[in-house]
Amino acid sequence: MFKFIVAGGGSASVSIVNNLIKSGRVQPSQILVIEPSLVNYYQPGFTMIGGRVLGDAESIKKNSMHIIENKTANMFPFSVPILQKEVVSFNPDQNSLSVSGGESLQYENLIVSMGIHLDFEAVPGLKQALDDEKSTVGSIYRLPYAFKTNKIIENFKGGNAVFCMPPLPIKCPGAPQKIMHLAIDNFKAAGVTDFKVHYYMAQPAIFSVPKYAKKLKEIAEGKGINLNFEHTISRVEHEKKIAYFKNKDGEIAVPYDMLHVPPPQRGVNALKNSTLVDKTGFVEVNKETLRHTRYNNIWALGDCANTPIPKTLAAALSQSQVLTHNLFQALDKKDINAKYEGYTACPIFVGNNKLMMCEFKYGLVPHETFSYKQDVPNGFFYWAKKWLFPRVYMQFVKRNWWFGRTMFFKPKF
Ligand SMILES: Cc1cc2nc3c(=O)[nH]c(=O)nc-3n(C[C@H](O)[C@H](O)[C@H](O)COP(=O)(O)OP(=O)(O)OC[C@H]3O[C@@H](n4cnc5c(N)ncnc54)[C@H](O)[C@@H]3O)c2cc1C
Repeated sequence: MFKFIVAGGGSASVSIVNNLIKSGRVQPSQILVIEPSLVNYYQPGFTMIGGRVLGDAESIKKNSMHIIENKTANMFPFSVPILQKEVVSFNPDQNSLSVSGGESLQYENLIVSMGIHLDFEAVPGLKQALDDEKSTVGSIYRLPYAFKTNKIIENFKGGNAVFCMPPLPIKCPGAPQKIMHLAIDNFKAAGVTDFKVHYYMAQPAIFSVPKYAKKLKEIAEGKGINLNFEHTISRVEHEKKIAYFKNKDGEIAVPYDMLHVPPPQRGVNALKNSTLVDKTGFVEVNKETLRHTRYNNIWALGDCANTPIPKTLAAALSQSQVLTHNLFQALDKKDINAKYEGYTACPIFVGNNKLMMCEFKYGLVPHETFSYKQDVPNGFFYWAKKWLFPRVYMQFVKRNWWFGRTMFFKPKF
């Protein structure tokens, strides 16, 4: 019997476990983290790998991996036990779950932070294309494919560069267009002139928040990018270098010289068949308190929660502060009074060493930290994204020195 089981040991888990321990109210031996991976990733860095912000693949492997990955054990307080297994099923009525190997574990409180499933197989031909080293199909959504994307962009000699955006939900919905702008910068820097960039989106707009969408559309049109709304990638034939997209009239074939595909995404398998999720496959929580709507001793945060807002690390870090407070309030039989307002952030590389810092909350309402003009890209945000944020994640979050939107200041509820 554990006082707290944390299912999943990714970014959200690092934040919440460190919060619990640094509160002084929880001993490491009272927590169990269940995480199959020995490596913890700063996933926003994958965009900087693919887009060559951190240089070519060889120099990144030599010089920059310390800001992209760390051992899972190094991200958690020393002596917090980490069980290197997968959660396979949940039995919330018995306060238990089972892990790979068949063992059943009991908890008093369960925190679910199991991320989102990257469904590369959902697009016929995509996985084969990505796994074929000779193909010019990349994806920044998984580390080896991000390195492949880096090389594809480096070797691009011109022609059709095709980028796409799958249906929501996906993590960091800004990333599919960040890589497009970074690719264009690289093409120009390499003196490639004879190219055309195409962006195929499943959505009717380039971004979900109108304030940012307006500017992002202007920027894309200013670069001559061919924008195609309501087009969803349906299959890839990489031997022929053709991607297919479905629109309201049927399917179109798009020849490409390079193709970037973020995978469709859905709830992770272990959660899918449990009673913890809603019909979309994500853990059903109160969107403000982050407590499960039906099980009082279950909480969720990060990409696996059904909070109706884009899934980002920025969101997970802010959720973590609310969840910690509310969990202790519940244990003390006090009011669950902290509210997560839906804060999320999408720092979008728009080219020329500039970045648009999109910050918003529930209702897709801008919720900006720095100025009301955050739809104007600037070099300071680019610097922060490239140099500061990876170090914030790798060094500050695990020391409990960073609290999401309030940065170095612990929010008061
Ligand atoms: C290319 C890319 C760019 C991004 N850019 C940004 C950005 O600029 N800004 C930003 O804020 N966010 C960005 N994100 C999103 C951000 O990385 C995620 O939102 C964040 O990692 C969510 O944390 P999480 O803990 O919910 O999920 P994860 O960090 O993915 O962790 C989930 C963990 O659960 C584990 N798990 C899965 N199944 C099981 C199981 N059955 N049992 C036990 N454990 C399991 C996994 O191994 C994993 O370690 C980006 C993501 C990507 C991929």
